[in-house]
Amino acid sequence: MSHFNPLSVYWHPRTFDHAPPDGAFKHPSMPFLAVDEPHPDKPARARNIKQIIEATFETDVFQTANPAPRSAIERVHDPAYVSWLDEFAANGGGYIDETTTAASEATFDAARHAAGTALAATEHALEKRPGVPYALARPSGHHAQSDRADGFCFLNNAGIAAQHALKEGFDRVAVIDWDVHHGNGTQEIFEDREDVLFMSIHNDHGAWDPTYHSQTGGLEEVGTDDGKGYTVNVPVPPGTGDQGYELIFDRLIDPIVTAYKPDLLVYSAGQDPGPSDPLGRNVVTRVGFRTLGERARQLAEATTDGRYLLIQEGGYQVSHLAFATLGVLEGATDRTFDLPTYGESDPYAWLDEAIEPLETALEEACDAHAEFWPV
Ligand SMILES: [Zn+2]
Repeated sequence: MSHFNPLSVYWHPRTFDHAPPDGAFKHPSMPFLAVDEPHPDKPARARNIKQIIEATFETDVFQTANPAPRSAIERVHDPAYVSWLDEFAANGGGYIDETTTAASEATFDAARHAAGTALAATEHALEKRPGVPYALARPSGHHAQSDRADGFCFLNNAGIAAQHALKEGFDRVAVIDWDVHHGNGTQEIFEDREDVLFMSIHNDHGAWDPTYHSQTGGLEEVGTDDGKGYTVNVPVPPGTGDQGYELIFDRLIDPIVTAYKPDLLVYSAGQDPGPSDPLGRNVVTRVGFRTLGERARQLAEATTDGRYLLIQEGGYQVSHLAFATLGVLEGATDRTFDLPTYGESDPYAWLDEAIEPLETALEEACDAHAEFWPV
């Protein structure tokens, strides 16, 4: 018997077909530039993750997931929105209003298959099957709100996963989101409830669209009504890296999740805090992501009898994303791969971490959350 945990990757080839059109990301085509900007959510993101897993882990780790049934999607999303999205994609898609979020004809089908990977990983976790369930979900989910797409996200995979666990009779779910952007969609879905704890570590990037992205993930957003205290935002300064994220687990994630006593941990694993990500400003390396994977597993062992799953969120540097995600999976499965040429470290680690700004931000976050939690 092997000493490490096996890996189960839930995926579907249809998720690779979602292809937001190039050429109008954030700005219209510019006459003074020769080349249009490619949309950051390239299918290559997921293809590279799949390839690095194939090159390292055993060949039988992949399992094809079924698409999420409409009923599971509509436990989180407004049925009118789901119908609109289906029709919008069927008509060819395009950019949604003036936002950066864009669909192709395959997008609705890709999104419901992505949600299906999250459901399959959830069932794996709830049944305590051996090994680490990882949903290679694309498009991502954590910006999608109950009635709208946002931030390249259409269906909230983590929210659909959490809601499925509650439907199956589990009482409390904690969603921990380390994508470098605030998980505003997940927050919006659960902010008035106490049965889902939502914690987000993100750069303090502010709103990027007044209509579609007004939430910013500030310390003062702690949830509403019965959900007061069950939204925990941890904005971190640019330059936060391996050591900073570990400190955040030590000081906030571990104590709050332990006090909450969840039945399941859902990790929104966006690897865009990486050092070369075009849409992030943090410097977490493959080694730091390995630590995040370890901490994810250890926290589940300590609080949920080992029930947890990892769901892919963002990460936009198409090469680094693969190394970073490998790091997460290495940590979760308790093994390290010595890659030809690249060894066990990160080929993109070229900036030192700025720890002092993070320590200040962490003190502020602890002060803000001490009203509700033992931090
Ligand atoms: Zn992100």
